[in-house]
Amino acid sequence: MVGKIVILGAGESGLGTAFLACKKGLKVFLSDNNIISKKTKEKLNLMGVSWEEKKHSLSKMKDADWIIKSPGIDNKSRIIVQLREMDLPIISEIEFASKFTSSKIIAITGSNGKTTTALLTHHLLSQGGLKVGVAGNIGNSFAKEIAENKYDYYVLEVSSFQLDDIINFSPNIGVITNIVPDHLDRYENNFEKYLNSKLKITKNQTKNDLLIFNSDDQNLTEKILGLKTKAELHTYGKKNDWLNNTYHNDENIIIKTKKRKTMINSAEFSLSGQHNLLNAMAAVTIANLFEISKEKIRESLTNFKGVPHRLEKVLKIRNVNYINDSKATNVNATFYALESINTPTVWIAGGVDKGNDYNQLLPLVHEKVKAIICLGKNNDKLFETFNPIVDLMFEAETMSNAVKMAHKLAERKDSVLLSPACSSFDLFRNYEDRGDQFKKAVKNL
Ligand code: ADP
Repeated sequence: MVGKIVILGAGESGLGTAFLACKKGLKVFLSDNNIISKKTKEKLNLMGVSWEEKKHSLSKMKDADWIIKSPGIDNKSRIIVQLREMDLPIISEIEFASKFTSSKIIAITGSNGKTTTALLTHHLLSQGGLKVGVAGNIGNSFAKEIAENKYDYYVLEVSSFQLDDIINFSPNIGVITNIVPDHLDRYENNFEKYLNSKLKITKNQTKNDLLIFNSDDQNLTEKILGLKTKAELHTYGKKNDWLNNTYHNDENIIIKTKKRKTMINSAEFSLSGQHNLLNAMAAVTIANLFEISKEKIRESLTNFKGVPHRLEKVLKIRNVNYINDSKATNVNATFYALESINTPTVWIAGGVDKGNDYNQLLPLVHEKVKAIICLGKNNDKLFETFNPIVDLMFEAETMSNAVKMAHKLAERKDSVLLSPACSSFDLFRNYEDRGDQFKKAVKNL
């Protein structure tokens, strides 16, 4: 019988956990070593949760049955090391929340495409008439959803940090979109460790569960083959001879399983780019599994609105398309953005580089980019890599200047693409702020 839990971190995830725990009658202590906002304190007080800020008092944690850790806290941090030494069970919020629900869980992880795939899956299932919620890194935390709502199905966007601290969490359907180097600072710069963390999504799956993954990603496929997961496997990407495989042919997405082959017209799919087609293949595979009609899926692919800051079309000004892909915080996401554009492009790039290798962008940049505007505090690496192939390279220190420069450089039928391949924290609050500033600057032109 669990009586007391300790929550580390007073963000969305921590607050949601407190909410659910109180509802379940558990005693809760919340600790954050930063300042807790006034609003959050009010909510905690209202729930009767005791809390502390600007410190972590081990003495108040030692009798906890579970420690629930915010995904933002590094496993190498002092408090976590100390708690582990005390042999206290540290779990993530999704582990905790999943103990209190019997809803079916579809969990989506990967380096890029999680949000888009999760929202598209949710859209296809809800349009198909299922009672389905979406949570995790999108909208409410999973814990808050479980406390407040009761859906038959949940689509969860799950980060590697959430998966790091699971014990029994096991989705009925797991999806891995791809795995490319990202967040390696949290994994001792070791790609293998990051890969292993994402693969935990299938760790507790049984033969009644399904693992859907992108088989065009070779590292991922090799790893999964070596895992011997009990889950049934379903691949998507290029056509291959796996028993269960979803691929794209002319204007159709084709879902092939042991039992049947289904063809769904995707000619009118609302999102552009090869990567979004991959996301659609994953989502359509799930919708098809739940027996949503082909016609409904086709219609829902057409009316899906897309997600802000992901290849978002902002405006067309003097026949120049302005595209906001601020969420592209790594090279792989920018690769797909450049690939999806079929016109000469003025590319706005840069920010905080997480150890990027830009070389994989060289062929696409050579083919499509006529000018680069570097928007970061330190742009040396961008200049070193791209100056040999792009004559027009400039620096800007504000979004408004970057957009004005781009406007001058772009000619009719060109595109202006913000796809930074970097984090935003040098000049912006976060990627949303960066994307919003871009949209505002474009509207002000
Ligand atoms: P995540 O939630 O994993 O960060 P998003 O759907 O928010 O993924 O997209 C993040 C960035 O990656 C955007 O720039 C988007 O255009 C790009 N992207 C989306 N899907 C994919 C994919 N399957 N492969 C590579 N990049 C993608």
